[in-house]
Amino acid sequence: MSNEARRKIVFGPVPSRRLGMSLGVDLVPFKTCGYSCIYCQLGITPSPTLERREYVPPREAIEAVRAALSGGLKPDYITLSGSGEPTLHSRIGDVIHGLKDLGAAPVAVLTSGALLWMPEVRRDLAEADVVLPTLAAGDETVFRRMHCPAQGLDFRRVVEGMEAFRREYCGQIWLEVFLVAGLNTTEDQIEKMCRMAERIAPDKVQLNTAVRPPAEKGVTAPTMAELEQIRAAFGPAAEIIAEFGGRKTQTPGGKEADPGSGEEAASPDGRNGGRGNGAPAGGEDMPRGWKEPDTAGRPPREAGAAVARLADEILAIVSRHPCTPEDVAAVLGLAPADAGRILDGLRREGLLEEDRRGGRSYFRTLQS
Ligand code: SF4
Repeated sequence: MSNEARRKIVFGPVPSRRLGMSLGVDLVPFKTCGYSCIYCQLGITPSPTLERREYVPPREAIEAVRAALSGGLKPDYITLSGSGEPTLHSRIGDVIHGLKDLGAAPVAVLTSGALLWMPEVRRDLAEADVVLPTLAAGDETVFRRMHCPAQGLDFRRVVEGMEAFRREYCGQIWLEVFLVAGLNTTEDQIEKMCRMAERIAPDKVQLNTAVRPPAEKGVTAPTMAELEQIRAAFGPAAEIIAEFGGRKTQTPGGKEADPGSGEEAASPDGRNGGRGNGAPAGGEDMPRGWKEPDTAGRPPREAGAAVARLADEILAIVSRHPCTPEDVAAVLGLAPADAGRILDGLRREGLLEEDRRGGRSYFRTLQS
């Protein structure tokens, strides 16, 4: 498989606030989704859909992951996510089965949860270690405003699907509650979502908000004080998802270690890539630890080729996940200033745009 074909399917590892260093697997084309969430980092969904298809042959997806792992990479999770809704892949169950057979890392599925009312989707996810669905509304009105769903989806159906999944699934469910200030943070909405969460009975409730640039400019995050209040309303199983702070320690059962229990973290300058094991991370095509090409002992053409390969790698990551220079530095083992220079070069070429949010610069592919 060519590196280009592999990069269409596998990306990262990217720093995930919930999953540590997460090797992403993208099973569907860009913005193939049943929702068009106002907070989506990838912009609007042109045609929300519920049609499940075999967008990538499972064997190809598994081979792409195997190739990415062949250099000794040890992600915290292999995560089905990316630029759309992974459960729209009609053979996601076969992909999960193949990834579990690799035995490299626990398998997580980041999903909107919109298709869990389909028995075949629930069956397909049975072998995953962790499933992370999203709840962002307490009733039909806010559900429609928040997700602009495909025809055929309604709030009740989606919540009942999550409840049915809980009854049938033996793995971990980490329910993301996505909060948008003033829209679903009212007392009424929080109360309704608390009741939904009780019915869904996840192992964790994780409060998330629009940290990265969303599809709609007016979408804003609640304050930390509001988040604390909301966390208290959801009870002891709830946590506020902190900004990425390093890798999760992987235990044999695939559970996360307590972040305060000595987990390895990216060094402040990002040069250990957050991996802590110094392992090469994806084969010879991914020049980790690259430094400013000063050409001392390195022919200029070789340095230029290294930058070009890094730029390709960065584009593959940023197209699924808006990143700061610090994020990119942590993933690729660069100094943040070097990552910033490459990102800025890609911006000047018109391949990326920069969006400032919360005092930080996020780079992402151009939104149409
Ligand atoms: S946030 Fe997720 S579920 Fe919502 S539109 Fe984007 S990809 Fe789809």
